[in-house]
Amino acid sequence: MIKDEISKLRKEVENCKKCPLYKTRNKVVFGNGSLNAKIFLVGEGPGFDEDRTGVAFVGRSGKLLDKILEACGFTREKHVFIGNIVKCRPPQNRIPTIDEQSSCLPFLEKQVELLNPDIIVTLGATAYKGLFDSNAKITRERGNWKIRNNRLVMPTYHPSALLRNPALKKDSWEDFKKVILKYRELVDPEHFCKYI
Ligand code: SF4
Repeated sequence: MIKDEISKLRKEVENCKKCPLYKTRNKVVFGNGSLNAKIFLVGEGPGFDEDRTGVAFVGRSGKLLDKILEACGFTREKHVFIGNIVKCRPPQNRIPTIDEQSSCLPFLEKQVELLNPDIIVTLGATAYKGLFDSNAKITRERGNWKIRNNRLVMPTYHPSALLRNPALKKDSWEDFKKVILKYRELVDPEHFCKYI
């Protein structure tokens, strides 16, 4: 059932022309992962590689994200679904405008409603600001649980920020450790992570 609903939504997103980003996209990046995921990761938007492949987080950032997930004992196939604030690539990887974000956000909201995750993790400033407050500072908000529409949200850095500034990796890991502990508390007390 959820599969049908998601397929229907995917078709709608793939045909979307609600904002100007449709004009320059190659592929819509709907999002991917497990439909049974209890963790929903929210990124900013597709980059060059994602726009080419139609898959979320496949470039260098994606590889780092995979390593982080692996360290947590999570996999894309089983534990997480990854979606973005906007589903089409902003030219030159610029930050999506507020109007573009507002046009696209209902799709993300619908994905979250359908998947009904226990935990949302926002990756980077744009994802956090898009869901909470456009004036927020990720450096201040990260690592602290938030509530949005009765769902728990952990804000953390985008993997691309960790690539640019490896000193942030320590904080990022602290944030993901909180996600692991919350996952054990809410979803699976037996969840295995070799580090904690
Ligand atoms: S970014 Fe979102 S709202 Fe804009 S065209 Fe793409 S799918 Fe539609």
